[in-house]
Amino acid sequence: MTVMPVEPLPFLPYARQAVDADDVAAVTAALTSDWLTTGPEVARFEAALTETLGAPSAVVCNSGTAALHIAYGALGVGRGDAVIVPAITFVATANAARFLGAQPVFADVDADTGLMTPATAEAALAEARSAGWTPRIVVPVHLAGQVADPPGFAALADRHGLQVVEDACHAIGTVYRDAEGGVHRVGDCAHSHMASFSFHPAKTIAMGEGGVVMTADREAADRMRRLRSHGLRGGITPPDPAGTERGSAAGYTLDEIGHNYRAPDILCALGRSQLAKLDRFVGERRRLEALYRQQLKDLAPAVRPVPLVAGGTPAWHLQVVLIDVDRIGVDRDTVMQRLSGAGVGSQIHYIPVPWQPPYRQALDRSAFPGATRYFRRTLSLPLYVGLSDGDVARVVDALGVACGL
Ligand SMILES: *Cc1c(COP(=O)(O)O)cnc(C)c1O
Repeated sequence: MTVMPVEPLPFLPYARQAVDADDVAAVTAALTSDWLTTGPEVARFEAALTETLGAPSAVVCNSGTAALHIAYGALGVGRGDAVIVPAITFVATANAARFLGAQPVFADVDADTGLMTPATAEAALAEARSAGWTPRIVVPVHLAGQVADPPGFAALADRHGLQVVEDACHAIGTVYRDAEGGVHRVGDCAHSHMASFSFHPAKTIAMGEGGVVMTADREAADRMRRLRSHGLRGGITPPDPAGTERGSAAGYTLDEIGHNYRAPDILCALGRSQLAKLDRFVGERRRLEALYRQQLKDLAPAVRPVPLVAGGTPAWHLQVVLIDVDRIGVDRDTVMQRLSGAGVGSQIHYIPVPWQPPYRQALDRSAFPGATRYFRRTLSLPLYVGLSDGDVARVVDALGVACGL
């Protein structure tokens, strides 16, 4: 018997960017302008971000990691300080504390949402103090796009004299309601000192590499502008490319030691063009997430989507399912391999950061029971603008087969 070759179905990655002709045109215009790096596109992108997200200042830089580094730095985090971060997050949330010589102290997370809570952060605060560290900032991460209780963290910070920096890299476009019924957009900084975002192509808005810190603290914004440009006082304003208006040497005064975290005009043009489509991108992600949630009912109770956080309207960055590995009797690596064989990409977000080699403390793994339980079950499925309804059905079918259901 001969088997006719079948056209293989396209591979579905867990994430991908949506770049259209208008984005290409915006980048081309920047590329053929007078500026390639810090020029008018940086200020235009920052103005669009303040308009869209609501906080008065936006400091754009060349990655979400750089954004966290200058945010922590502008708040004076340094040696002897503790930065409270969730055990489930991207490594950069913790690494940025280490860049400054500070100690990341990991808080456990809710076993079902993966989110740090004010209660788990409070326990980490006590641990930091008893180890002799001074807690300075707490960094809630809005995992997958769901909010980690911004009002609760604002109250916690008040009680303990801390500042809140939201790692909002997953949550551009997320909206939430506070206890008084007020509606907020993540990034308006109503319940935090600062909020950082990433524009890595896996995120909702793609710049290639890029990020931003939003804040209502104009002094801190000025300091972040210096920190992103070597610590030079002139880092506050874009240089005049024609060199006609320099006027004084003050711009080359080094106020402190900083970095080169400037985002080029070429990429800011892409960021601004993408940001103009935020509502459409977020709407499509919400539609796809709802479709998954509906179709995943066929795989319950062995496989379930993450539970929804009350008061939040997430702009979904990740399509997370929790797999009851004990019930299905198949380990998760096998599930991932089978999915990959069926042309479906998947990813784990995340291995608990305190388990990573540079952070492996003299801590028992049971120190993070919530993170351990979340990590054992979590899997991120394809979610991006351009995924079709048929693709969602294909992913859910393949997941059922991979889990032996
Ligand atoms: C992506 C991400 C970052 C880092 O952003 P980059 O732009 O990749 O440097 C930080 N924190 C979280 C939670 C992220 O998902």
